[in-house]
Amino acid sequence: MSEDLGLLTLGIDLGGSKILTAVVNPRGEMLSSDESMTPATKGREAVIQSILDSAHRALKQAGVAISEIYAIGVGAAGISNPEAGILFTSPNLPGWRDVPLRDIMQERLGKRTFLINDANAAALGEFYFGAARRARNFIYITLSTGIGGGIVIDGKIYTGAIGAAGEVGHMTIDDNGPICNCGNRGCWETLASGTALAKEARHRIKEGVRTSILTYAEGDVERVTAQVIHNAADQGDGLAKELIARTGYYVGVGLANLINIFNPELIVIGGGLSNIGDMLLEPAFKVAGERAYKEASQAVRFASAELGRNSGVLGAAAFALREMGKPLCE
Ligand SMILES: [Zn+2]
Repeated sequence: MSEDLGLLTLGIDLGGSKILTAVVNPRGEMLSSDESMTPATKGREAVIQSILDSAHRALKQAGVAISEIYAIGVGAAGISNPEAGILFTSPNLPGWRDVPLRDIMQERLGKRTFLINDANAAALGEFYFGAARRARNFIYITLSTGIGGGIVIDGKIYTGAIGAAGEVGHMTIDDNGPICNCGNRGCWETLASGTALAKEARHRIKEGVRTSILTYAEGDVERVTAQVIHNAADQGDGLAKELIARTGYYVGVGLANLINIFNPELIVIGGGLSNIGDMLLEPAFKVAGERAYKEASQAVRFASAELGRNSGVLGAAAFALREMGKPLCE
């Protein structure tokens, strides 16, 4: 065990806007952390070079040579197949199609590399080192500009037939609802994400509803964000409170579906939008309780994510270690 404690992995969290890289030990402690912007519009080779640069900075910061790294885990935004190591497509990385990202990293860094979806990586981070420790059946949800998720069944991340499982943000909630980035209508994230909240607020303001929201957005309706609405709600603005409760309602509808399908013991909720707290989550939990089967909803516990922005990088590192057959110090 003491020997295994020395096994260091390199975790990489590749998002559409940022790259986070860290040297991680089996206890989930980060020996270093490097963050940089993703040059998404500059194309694939520029992004890959940025990942490599970030990896080298993270190694240097930790005082570790690449030869001392046991394995590498990459959590990447988009639909990927962990077994084949291929990133099929990524909404935030234009031009990426069927990229063998695992093999590219393996070749350039000379270490065994494993690829997983970023939300699944975040779920694993919370599972091994955060709010879902000791849970066997749990679901991780990130409420942010979109809605991501990861499903752990019987202690293992569930990735499905080709690795595309866990895309909870794209379950249909309203078949006539708003058009989603994925092309479908009324996906969960078109109704219950931060983007959806801001969009609805802008719509209501343009309709002429009385609200103080604009004063928190420098008078510019295009600057209305979920954070702005949260600020206005904290100061008692009626529309802001109503829209957050509406968003919470839709969060709850999706949670009810997940509870009925998976009967999880725990649902961990993270992402920037969840920082709104009770104003959003109380209506969500209420609706989930009303709509899901009573027995299943009574069996589920809700918890806030604990690892914040590090969940993905820690989960990617842990995934690599587990795929190499090594234990973690959970
Ligand atoms: Zn969608």
